[in-house]
Amino acid sequence: MLKVENLNVHYGNIHALKNISFEVAKGEIVTLIGANGAGKTSTLQAVSGMLKPSGGKITLKEQDISHIEAHKLVPLGMAHVPEGRRVFAQMTVEENLELGAYILNNKKQISEDIEKMYARFPRLKERRKQLAGTMSGGEQQMLAMARALMSRPEIVLMDEPSMGLAPILVQEIFDIIKEINTTGTTVLLVEQNANMALQIAHRAYVLETGEVVLSGVGKELLNNAQVKKAYLGA
Ligand code: ATP
Repeated sequence: MLKVENLNVHYGNIHALKNISFEVAKGEIVTLIGANGAGKTSTLQAVSGMLKPSGGKITLKEQDISHIEAHKLVPLGMAHVPEGRRVFAQMTVEENLELGAYILNNKKQISEDIEKMYARFPRLKERRKQLAGTMSGGEQQMLAMARALMSRPEIVLMDEPSMGLAPILVQEIFDIIKEINTTGTTVLLVEQNANMALQIAHRAYVLETGEVVLSGVGKELLNNAQVKKAYLGA
């Protein structure tokens, strides 16, 4: 589905990503874990066209997307749930969902999809007329996910969905990610909560100062001594 080869990103003379390579197969949940500043967000931004790579190749479904702008990736089947949610604060929940479907023009299909989102995220249904900016962090995260799913993506990129959420909501968000995946969407997940991310991921890559230092099956990395020491607080 997605292949990243020798990705490099520079911010001025800071070399933030150094030859990052990884793959996400159709149907997988793949997670990138790593400490603050390891390069997780930069990687997602480069993949989703929000950041120009200084080198490397990104392929989505056999098509070279290394230089394609972000909005052109949505019709190709990619959606991005950015760090910090970025919902449209002055719009209602429902208007945010409608905007998520901007590439589709079948009104009936859009309203059916909105109902599907309400079934998956009942909290959003209760709040359909509420301004997004007045919702709690967890509710905004659910809205950001639902809005991304409205474009019917084949792969969704999620940047730190659990950030700043209470533990009970963190569990709920991870359950939703698992469900999104089992109902057919491929997931590339960036997380600082390595423990939760590794539990749901099929495979994982560990980033350290802009490089991939380790990769493997999610559950196996949970038991890896190096990972335990550095990321799981063991
Ligand atoms: P976090 O979990 O803290 O968000 P991260 O793993 O997502 O961290 P990035 O945000 O990708 O890491 O940052 C990777 C490196 O690039 C860091 O050293 C960061 O300081 C640097 N960086 C990121 N954005 C910029 C920018 N706009 N200008 C300069 N340096 C940047």
